[in-house]
Amino acid sequence: MLRVQKYGGSSVASADHIRRVAARIARERRAGHDLVVVVSAMGQTTDQLIELSRSISRNPAPREMDLLLSTGELVSGALLAMALREHGLGAVSLSGFQAGIRTDTDFSRARITQIEPGRLHDEIGRGNIVIVAGFQGTTDDLEVTTLGRGGSDTTAVALAAALRAPVCEIYTDVDGVHTADPRIVPAARRLIDISYEEMLEMASEGAKVMHNRAVELGWVYDVPILVASSLTDDSGGTRIHGGTLMENRNKVRGIAHDAGIARVTLLGVPDRPGIAAQVFSPLADAGISVDIIVQNAGRHGMSDVSFTVTRADLPATLERMRAIREDIGAADVTADDNLAKVSIIGAGLTNAPGYAGAMFRALRDAAINIEMITTAEISLTCVVHQDRVDDAVRALHRAFSLETPDDMPR
Ligand code: ADP
Ligand code: ASP
Ligand code: MG
Repeated sequence: MLRVQKYGGSSVASADHIRRVAARIARERRAGHDLVVVVSAMGQTTDQLIELSRSISRNPAPREMDLLLSTGELVSGALLAMALREHGLGAVSLSGFQAGIRTDTDFSRARITQIEPGRLHDEIGRGNIVIVAGFQGTTDDLEVTTLGRGGSDTTAVALAAALRAPVCEIYTDVDGVHTADPRIVPAARRLIDISYEEMLEMASEGAKVMHNRAVELGWVYDVPILVASSLTDDSGGTRIHGGTLMENRNKVRGIAHDAGIARVTLLGVPDRPGIAAQVFSPLADAGISVDIIVQNAGRHGMSDVSFTVTRADLPATLERMRAIREDIGAADVTADDNLAKVSIIGAGLTNAPGYAGAMFRALRDAAINIEMITTAEISLTCVVHQDRVDDAVRALHRAFSLETPDDMPR
């Protein structure tokens, strides 16, 4: 059987880790499986490369930044191939380009547009274990791009789809997807399984255990994803899929949080048609995603418009807002860069009253102020101060009884 696996940064953090991963892959190879293995950069390599670039330039060219960051995954891939050869096994490591991964031209957040799997099939046919550098691809002009932080997950799911693997296995430093980040809530429970829809919402609201684009691809191409520990052989893990779930769906499935949010407010904006287009079009053109938007009811023909972006996008956002402030006649532009968001997620939230009230009460009881609120089909999100977000996650986890097992097969 063809298996597509991905090992994250913490699983390949050192030479020892790489040897351990190689031993694991060698066992699977000897059991008769063909293997395509996607790797992340070793440990904190990507963060270190970003730091390094900052020490050289405050505003590096996007193409240079992506070329720089793509090197992390090349290192871990080549080392893993060497480690496998030490086991006497055929193994070859490939860059994103060599693996046929094509993307659009959006540096630092490129999307995979196509996979040409010819080389992959050739190498598998030759009996090689194929190691693919995650998180990267090339444009039609042969520029190297990266897929956004955490993007190696997306490489793995895209390869599983292109190679028609029955499942995409994501190995990481936790034993699966939990009801909240186990680093913040030690009592968080591993979920046996979760729907694509719920996992996409968790990932999009900040649960970095899976890259949101990876879940989206899994959903579109119907590739089930197994998230499991790279340290233990048989932890069970969490299955992300589109079938009937084992657990009772009629409740909150998990809490996600994102500690890196910034809010921008345009004060005293004239209340007239076209303003929203004028404010948000330049951001869209710059590839900046706006998350929560709130417009306060206008008085005397004026209103305030607030919206959130990721903290990393704040400088570019402010630059654009200051450029249009006079044109739109806004009195001032202000920003808060110390916010976070916390979300409750579950298919059971759809049309079910009572969840919002329970969420607000739990935050009130923990004396946490809510800065902004937004609702979606299967989630409810509150923006809170960054220094209270961990408390907020814990309070909500308790309030929705997520530490209590609820996984009786129906
Ligand atoms: P990798 O390097 O393997 O890609 P990541 O650091 O990207 O690993 O993702 C794993 C981390 O995600 C965990 O260590 C955990 O702290 C965090 N995490 C956040 N939310 C969750 C969740 N709901 N379930 C499990 N892990 C989570
Ligand atoms: N190395 C990249 C990052 O740290 C991609 C990944 O690990 O998935 O974001
Ligand atoms: Mg990751």
